[in-house]
Amino acid sequence: NADLAMYKAKQSGRNQAHFFTAAMQEHANQRMTLEQDLRHALERDQLEVYYQPIVAGHSGRVQGVEALLRWHHPERGTIPPDQFIPMAEETGLIGKIGQWVLETACHQVQRWSAQGRELSLSVNISERQRDLGLDASAVQSILARHAIDPTRLILEITEGLLLQDSQETVTWLQGFKDLGISLAIDDFGTGYSSLSYLKRFPVDTLKIDREFIRDLNSDRYADSLVTAIISMAASLDLRLIAEGVETEAQRRTLIDQGCLFMQGYLFCPPQPADELLLWLNRYQPVPAQERADTSAAG
Ligand code: C2E
Ligand code: MG
Ligand code: MG
Ligand code: MG
Repeated sequence: NADLAMYKAKQSGRNQAHFFTAAMQEHANQRMTLEQDLRHALERDQLEVYYQPIVAGHSGRVQGVEALLRWHHPERGTIPPDQFIPMAEETGLIGKIGQWVLETACHQVQRWSAQGRELSLSVNISERQRDLGLDASAVQSILARHAIDPTRLILEITEGLLLQDSQETVTWLQGFKDLGISLAIDDFGTGYSSLSYLKRFPVDTLKIDREFIRDLNSDRYADSLVTAIISMAASLDLRLIAEGVETEAQRRTLIDQGCLFMQGYLFCPPQPADELLLWLNRYQPVPAQERADTSAAG
């Protein structure tokens, strides 16, 4: 019966429309709640900075740490930054949060210094922070407060920021450079990397995105890309860090190709400050060659 079929189709269409609205409403509500929660996360002491070592690939020696933010939500557990940083950016909360991350990480690195551990510090910053008061003088006063030499700080920015190619951005970044702070491009290779912006902006370091490292030795496209990035960095005098190094084979390949610095679970995952210190105290750097020999011997 055609009429009945038509009737049923309409009914189910209506139900579906209803279902979608409900789902969207639910989603919007959840988002609003999370946003409200984020507004109070700082004062409620729910944010924590984790630290992941950056090592010299060949010797395995720890050279510095990257600060990576975590949100310990009372009901949802620990929320990774990808799930709340975008919200913090949209709402402008990233201004206060970003400032707090920098402050906290500087304080921590200074404490480690007092314990005889000189580490460089990498901190991720969002482009939104430019309009929210994060400029060279703001960073300088944080560094001064914690007696940290600007040459020990690396600010990590993403490619998106450089694509706009605005004079405003160049000036903003140059302000950091003039203090002696280094600049790194994070997740390099995932955006529209272009040689021209590398020339225009005062960057020192490229961080090869872990997407390419993951596929190393198994995907020829990833292999060629990594090779190209490494040789480009060498000819432009840029420092390189490979992100997401998880296996000894990846480490070996990267060393053979000339990538000097690495970060990844092979060495150490991001950890709370106290745990990182325990890790540092236990850690025995293993040179790449030795480690490969050991595994070959079984
Ligand atoms: P990112 O700066 O590229 O950080 C590297 C990410 O790779 C981290 O994710 C880290 O936990 C993860 N990772 C490190 N080694 C490995 C590995 O061997 N395997 C795999 N699969 N992953 C590894 P995380 O901590 O979830 O941070 C995600 C992103 O959130 C960061 O990417 C960064 O863009 C952003 N973020 C983190 N903290 C902050 C912050 O304080 N401010 C801003 N603006 N962004 C932040
Ligand atoms: Mg980063
Ligand atoms: Mg990255
Ligand atoms: Mg990232």
